[in-house]
Amino acid sequence: MTAGSGSAANGSEADGLAQGGKALVIRDLVTGYGEIEVLHGISLTAEAGRCIGVVGANGAGKTTLLRAISGLLPVKQGSIEFGGQSLVGRKTHEIARLGVAHVPEGRQVLQHLTVRENMYLGSPSKADRQERLDRQLETFQVLRDKLDQPGGQLSGGQQQMLAIARALMSNPTLLLLDEPTLGLSPKLTDDLYYLLARIRDESNATFVLVEQNIALAADLTEYSVLMQRGRVIRTEQSKALMSDKELLSAYLA
Ligand code: ATP
Repeated sequence: MTAGSGSAANGSEADGLAQGGKALVIRDLVTGYGEIEVLHGISLTAEAGRCIGVVGANGAGKTTLLRAISGLLPVKQGSIEFGGQSLVGRKTHEIARLGVAHVPEGRQVLQHLTVRENMYLGSPSKADRQERLDRQLETFQVLRDKLDQPGGQLSGGQQQMLAIARALMSNPTLLLLDEPTLGLSPKLTDDLYYLLARIRDESNATFVLVEQNIALAADLTEYSVLMQRGRVIRTEQSKALMSDKELLSAYLA
């Protein structure tokens, strides 16, 4: 799939959000859990600096796809390249160092650590972590007054914002978001999408967004892939895909 056009940069992690995303190219990816094969040959391309959606019913393999990209699952066959470099066989911290940040489903905020401590965990270096934190607070203003509170005391929506802000502390050039609105109220969902749209517009990072709320995915992404049982069965402009009610009721039921 080609998700629009964009310019690939050849820089390092330090390039960060300000200077450009990189292309993500996946070919014939096969992976799973132990002996169980879950993805049976996925191919997709997200061009540099573009935002793609991944939609599909429960169990389609969306989370598994993100886990393979960020190195949490071994690749059995196929390739994953980001910015021209293979991610296959690399450890998660090496992949993170190449500019990949993954916000998993369920937030995974450390409940007993303060918001500030959670944020610092996302910084690759101690030296400039305060500067990085200050930068994120310009976008995630809701966290500003809560820096000394334990993460577990934040509301669900605030924890989701914390998880995303923490991921952005590393200045990623590829941001993997797994159902960021899961469990949020409509108001918080709107607030979060407003922030995500702002981050998308202000950065050249490449985004891969897994989202069950298809209308929201269409707002934020240009192209989407529709997955079913470990395969990509359709790749299309998000708005066109989302308006094909017949297709969606067949595959998202
Ligand atoms: P959801 O929207 O429900 O999160 P999904 O599209 O993200 O669905 P995955 O979570 O990737 O789907 O799951 C794909 C398949 O892999 C499912 O059949 C699921 O049961 C299986 N699976 C997921 N995690 C594991 C695991 N740890 N061990 C074995 N099988 C798993």
